[in-house]
Amino acid sequence: MFKKILIATRGEIALRIHRACREIGVKTVAVHSVADANAMHVRMADEAVCIGPSVAKESYLNKAAIISAALITDADAIHPGYGFLSENADFAEMVSEHGMTFIGPEAKMIRFMGNKIEAKKMMKDAGIPILPGSDGDVNTVSEALSIADSIGYPVIIKAVSGGGGRGMKVVRTKQDMIEAFDMARKEAEAAFDDGSVYIEKFLENPRHIEFQVIADNQGNVIHLGDRDCSLQRNNQKVLEETPSPVISDELRDKMGGLVCDAIRKIGYTNVGTVEFLYENGQFYFIEMNTRLQVEHPVTEMITGIDIVTQQIYIAAGEPLIYKQKDVVFRGHAIECRINAEDPETFIPSPGKVGLWHVPGGQWVRVDSAVYSGYTIPSNYDSLIAKLIVFGSTRKSCLMRMRRSLEEFVIEGVKNTVPLQQRIIDTKDFIEGKYNIHWLENFIGKYPKD
Ligand code: ADP
Repeated sequence: MFKKILIATRGEIALRIHRACREIGVKTVAVHSVADANAMHVRMADEAVCIGPSVAKESYLNKAAIISAALITDADAIHPGYGFLSENADFAEMVSEHGMTFIGPEAKMIRFMGNKIEAKKMMKDAGIPILPGSDGDVNTVSEALSIADSIGYPVIIKAVSGGGGRGMKVVRTKQDMIEAFDMARKEAEAAFDDGSVYIEKFLENPRHIEFQVIADNQGNVIHLGDRDCSLQRNNQKVLEETPSPVISDELRDKMGGLVCDAIRKIGYTNVGTVEFLYENGQFYFIEMNTRLQVEHPVTEMITGIDIVTQQIYIAAGEPLIYKQKDVVFRGHAIECRINAEDPETFIPSPGKVGLWHVPGGQWVRVDSAVYSGYTIPSNYDSLIAKLIVFGSTRKSCLMRMRRSLEEFVIEGVKNTVPLQQRIIDTKDFIEGKYNIHWLENFIGKYPKD
């Protein structure tokens, strides 16, 4: 087992990983930018190293600085969290080349899954359903037009190296395609340093449903059920729940089994999430995230399994201690992401937090690195807390979420608690009737309601 892990991220997830390490007797090293000198993860860790200025490119994305910090502190593994370098295959390779363990899958898996065309091909060959679309990247408008004709409009143009909900364009007509295609390639080039794009069928009203998997280095694979992440704004998740209100136990078992078979076939190890769009009873693979997800706590709530701890044990070469039959889904869990943003305009609201009081009580978990008097830097994303609530039924979970949101006190910065309160009070949410477009429609009406 590792003695010391360097945590190559910041914010709530750095703290989450630190906690897991502590609970299994592993020492931690925090790395931080100048802007994060007073951050909670820095205060909590056994050791801390400043790796550069506030701008992420020179600190949290600075591979050489992070590797050096790990070497001078004698860390034997690096946990990348999510975001930053967590899906950077070159970084994963660098970590191993320096004699340390990257806590994640093999670099070659990260590379495969980072290329969305390769990922689709690999999953299709492993028996997973995918959306109809181009077989590979599409280079010319005429090629794009003929593919769109064969699968039927609407279609979506997606960047092969895209991520974070960016690099996608919906195209509804031939004329749209002629206007949008070159633009999509240029935008992909500018955003991801890779202008290649591909085309797939655009689904009008799908839900986003994903499966959490854990695979050890000995060939054991289990799934921890699904998460419904359909409530999104700009393709970014806002609220997640498990189990999905529209998936039966039988369908979850069947789909989970299919996912595990595929993971076994491709030889994937560590934790990962296989993401699907779900419409009219059918699942279609969209991508695999080769890292810990922001929304992993809802799964932990209903399975009782600590995903981060498992991830660390597996990276250290230990076999999985759970078999699929040991995974029992109990009750319901919801996560509300709280961002430091105006809840109506979504303009970021960094700055000094005055009073900060988090909800508590039975079955309530708050993952956050914020404290009273903390200054939220403007350099990073605006997630400041995740409120995760469990209930024995979806209804009791929802009631508990309502009272927990009421208890949250955040002074000094605007935040999305009021947005979450509005969402969970709608008839549609209460009845579980929503898809990936629901939230944007709701927000469109929000100020006038
Ligand atoms: P990213 O890696 O940027 O997160 P994804 O491929 O996971 O990209 O897609 C993000 C979101 O975009 C999905 O959750 C869904 O809301 C929307 N989306 C992606 N592909 C399609 C599609 N073919 N039809 C409809 N919506 C889509």
